[in-house]
Amino acid sequence: MSVAVAERLAALQAGLPAHTRLLAVSKGHPAAAIRELAALGQRSFGESRLQEAEAKQAELADVPGLDWHFIGRLQANKVRPVLRRFAWLHSIDSLSLARRASRIAAEEGLSPRVFLQVKLRPDPNKGGFSAAELREAWPELQALPALQPVGLMTMAPLGLAPEERRRLFDECAALARELGLAELSMGMSGDWPEAAAAGSTWVRVGSALFGPKSLSVPAWDAI
Ligand SMILES: *Cc1c(COP(=O)(O)O)cnc(C)c1O
Repeated sequence: MSVAVAERLAALQAGLPAHTRLLAVSKGHPAAAIRELAALGQRSFGESRLQEAEAKQAELADVPGLDWHFIGRLQANKVRPVLRRFAWLHSIDSLSLARRASRIAAEEGLSPRVFLQVKLRPDPNKGGFSAAELREAWPELQALPALQPVGLMTMAPLGLAPEERRRLFDECAALARELGLAELSMGMSGDWPEAAAAGSTWVRVGSALFGPKSLSVPAWDAI
């Protein structure tokens, strides 16, 4: 597998514009696969389930400089352990979750970088602020003492045509500019080129990098 992964990594890196970094989404893949990518220079990894991530982080404790991003839906009762293990959170999808994360981060002496997740098209499977909700919550979000809001995160609903996805990503980029946020977490295996073209600073790529999943993952996670 290593030749294929190395080739996919090189191809992705060659295709990404200078402003876009690669978040390797390792959910569903073993620690050994992360170790291999780390040996090739990849440092940033995304996980969406706490337990799975904890096991891999323990196995990889000897690998220096790994940068962990939590990208899954964040349940209120998992906030504390997630904050302890992840310096970046991509999925702050409500004001109440942001308040809770700030309170717990302050208790823990942490100041995580967070993306506010926005939902700019109807999608029953996903959470997120609407543009109007985000504008209304923004003054309070900015004032939360322990969070560093760095950007917006969004996901395109399944079945959008490429030009519709591009429009969605452009809208998200415009909203981030309006709020003065520099980072954009947009684009996955199936749509990272449109997201990168729209100014994404982090593409979250799993299957196009690692290949098909080798650990079992609950169905809700595959959305
Ligand atoms: C799984 C996941 C990804 C990666 O998906 P691929 O299609 O495998 O690239 C990106 N973002 C989130 C939030 C995910 O859950």
